[in-house]
Amino acid sequence: MELLVDLHTHTVASGHAYSTLTENAMAASRKGLKLLGMTDHGPSMPGAPNLYHFGNLSIIPEEIFGVKILPGVEANIVNHEGELDIPFSYLAKMRLVLVGLHVICYPGGTSEQNTQAYIQAMGNPYIDMMVHPERPDFQLDLERIAYKSAQLNIPVEINNSSLSTIEEKARARVNCCCFANYMAKYKGPIILGSDAHFWDRVGEFSAALEVIHEAGISEHQVLNSSPERVLDYLATRRKQRLSISKVPLSIA
Ligand SMILES: [Zn+2]
Ligand SMILES: [Zn+2]
Repeated sequence: MELLVDLHTHTVASGHAYSTLTENAMAASRKGLKLLGMTDHGPSMPGAPNLYHFGNLSIIPEEIFGVKILPGVEANIVNHEGELDIPFSYLAKMRLVLVGLHVICYPGGTSEQNTQAYIQAMGNPYIDMMVHPERPDFQLDLERIAYKSAQLNIPVEINNSSLSTIEEKARARVNCCCFANYMAKYKGPIILGSDAHFWDRVGEFSAALEVIHEAGISEHQVLNSSPERVLDYLATRRKQRLSISKVPLSIA
């Protein structure tokens, strides 16, 4: 499987990542990637950028070193209702919105509360994809998430970094394999994300590829196996939003 799209990368703006967008784009270009998501952490994470950063994303060129750039965010779920840390008015202008649970930004809860928060966020029309449900930080019902992914056609990530971080590797791998098996069962769309926090990790998917291979997941189920399919999917999401007549524009 050739993956020419990395939708989950961080820049220095995230506060705990160490490369610029230019460096990430250069690395992506060297690896032959066609599409690069710039998804710095949402404002509730310590050290993450404030809303001014997200309000100025439109100045970023469409393409850097021949790689198409999708500027956006990895937004944080902040409560059991699945609300996010960025106003809808900002999300509406972004080219890519990833969403996940992160320690410090989310209070934690029972497996039922965490799963409910995650699934509520999946139903938000301003989000595009969900990330790293396999992280051991919060207990989640992975089968329900895989089922919802298929039902709502919302891609969920198999995160390469979770499988490469030494201290969490074993537990994350167990969860990851379990989640991949559920995704294989329900056939929801999958994305593989590097979650790179340094340029040398951009486009790195080898551990995640191993997991989906073991689960018997085919290339067709992996959205980022085709740059065109990713762009089509994102365009369709934005068209679907236009049909929503009344949406609150306050902080969600
Ligand atoms: Zn991070
Ligand atoms: Zn994350």
